[in-house]
Formats: sequence, C-alpha cells, structure tokens
Amino acid sequence: MFSQIHFSYVSPYLTILHPKRELPFLHFPGTYAKLYTMRPYNSLNESLQKRFGEKLYKLTLNIGCTCPNRDGTLGTRGCIFCSAGGSGEFAGDPGRTVTEQIEAGIRAISGKRPARRYIAYFQAYTNTYAPLDYLQRVYQEALDHPKIAALAIATRPDCLPLEVLDLLTSLNHQKPVWVELGLQTIHEGTASFIRRGYPLSVFHEAVEALHARSLEIIVHVILGLPGESKEMMLDTIRHLSTLPIHGLKLQLLHILKNTDLAAYYEQTSFHILTQKEYIDLIISCLELCRPDIIIHRLTGDGPKDLLIAPTWSQAKRQVLNTIHKELKQRTTWQGRLYTPPSD
Ligand code: SF4
Repeated sequence: MFSQIHFSYVSPYLTILHPKRELPFLHFPGTYAKLYTMRPYNSLNESLQKRFGEKLYKLTLNIGCTCPNRDGTLGTRGCIFCSAGGSGEFAGDPGRTVTEQIEAGIRAISGKRPARRYIAYFQAYTNTYAPLDYLQRVYQEALDHPKIAALAIATRPDCLPLEVLDLLTSLNHQKPVWVELGLQTIHEGTASFIRRGYPLSVFHEAVEALHARSLEIIVHVILGLPGESKEMMLDTIRHLSTLPIHGLKLQLLHILKNTDLAAYYEQTSFHILTQKEYIDLIISCLELCRPDIIIHRLTGDGPKDLLIAPTWSQAKRQVLNTIHKELKQRTTWQGRLYTPPSD
C-alpha cells in the first residue's frame, strides 16, 4: 500500500555520554550546552525550532463544527470518552470570529511567553465536517493572520471528501497545513467499543490520500482504553510506524464527567493506568516509534473540572519530567527498538 520507510538512527546519548568524542563542540560551548537540553525523542518543540527558527505556540480555535458521531449521521452520543465539548474544552469561543479567537489567544499567551508566531489549531469536534465554502472562509481567515505560521486541523478520516482534500492541498501551498486524525487504536474490537464509527481501512485510505497530496499527518492515539493490553497498544505504535505519518499525539485515557465512559467506569471500575504504568508504557511506545515521527504529545492534563480519573495526570509537568528522567536513567530513546519493515 505505502512505499517502505527506512530510517537509521543514532542514539543521542552517544554525544551526551561521550562528549570528548565530539571535539568540535568543545569550541562552541553554546551549541554543546544545547545538546544537553535535547530530548532523546523527536519533540515537537525542537522540530519547530529547526523548521521555523523559533518555538511556535498553538492557539486553539472552535469554528462551531459538529461531528457525525453526534449529529445523528453515525450516532448521537459521540465516542464513549468524548465530552460535550467535543474534545475541545480548551478551544476558543465559537461565537467569535476566527480572527477574534486568534487575537484573544495571542493576548493570553504573549503576556506569559516570548511568543512571536503561532499555529492556528482547529480543535473542537470535527473540523472538516462543514460546508466547503464555510471551511474555505475560516481556514483562509486564519492563514491571512500575519502571526499564524501554520494550520493544524483536527478531524476524522471519514470526513475528508475530495473537495476538502483539494482545499487543504491549495492552502498547504500558502502555509503548512497539518491534518490531525483521531485514530485512538488500530484494534477493531476496541474501536467498536469506543464507538469510533469507522474501520481501520478508512484510516488507511485517508493517510494514503493525504500523503499523496503532501499534507502532513498527525495521528492521535489513546493509551489505556478498556480491554487493551500493553502489547495491543504497542501494536498500534508498531503499525503507525509503517505508515507515512509525520506526527504522533500520545494521550492518556481520561475519564471525564457526563460521558458514557464515566458511567462504564462506575459500573465496572476497569483498570486505569497508574503513573508508573503509564511512564513505562510511554517509554516502550517511544522505543518502538519510527525515529523521524515528531512526538506532539506525551501526556495531557484534561479539563480540571471534568476529570474523574486518573487524577495524577493533573500534574502534567511532573509527569513529563518523570518521563524525561526515566528515559535518561534507562539510556534509551525514540526508535531504539524500531525495526523497519522488511522488503
Ligand atoms: S470523533 Fe471526536 S468529536 Fe466526534 S465524538 Fe469522537 S472524539 Fe468526539
């Protein structure tokens, strides 16, 4: 289906653990010090720095879309874990224009961080599920903003008709367009339990179509879904590493109030990953992940007022620090156990 992807990778620790082998760096202490701050995985921040020369900040937008899992096309209750906000609790106010949402986001970030340019992130619900002329208008409005450097559009693989693909392709000639697909798992049994609403083959078709149009593909995966063993989750990572995707978002399963997952949790008390299990799992995922895939997310903290479990995930900074510490202690890195598919 896809052309084979081959990639060779060298441990970042080779330099870090044996600095004297890298004599040129001794003459450039700034560069050398920077090596110590590099992550042993292909982090989004570092890739943005390389590509755009600076860190970009995401502005989360809500353009008032719905989702076929909610409007009655495929269902009305949404995916089992999805909150009423359509996984966009941090997104902007759909009552405001895109420009107003962007300006509000910039005001909120720029007081706290040295931000100059931003990514317009269409986050809430399914952001390609609307009439074409509306999509064209809102995407273009974001692209026209001088401080927007790229678009990131969260959607479902079954919501990418030809005309939307053509629109995204033409916008991609103006500024980079990333398409974020909510896959969650490759396992059909889990997918039907969570009411995802499309089979894996539809995801494959979307990846092929986006790849053929040189659109960047980011895949959202949820770790800890009910009934999935560690090996099943790792199978999802192994499988994604064979596809021409550019980015991966790894998200811990959150149980949010007023979702069907919360009711299921109350009835069954299914196992929720502990922090130690999650960190162990994340490291295994990174080790198996193809080295060039950009890691957009390693965890998430979820909306405080809605989160039922796991509450430890609220300490996002501490979870990330522990992942980084553990990667260092185990002297491991993204792709260490990745095996390219055989010809
Ligand atoms: S596809 Fe996304 S927006 Fe739609 S119900 Fe599922 S998680 Fe929610």
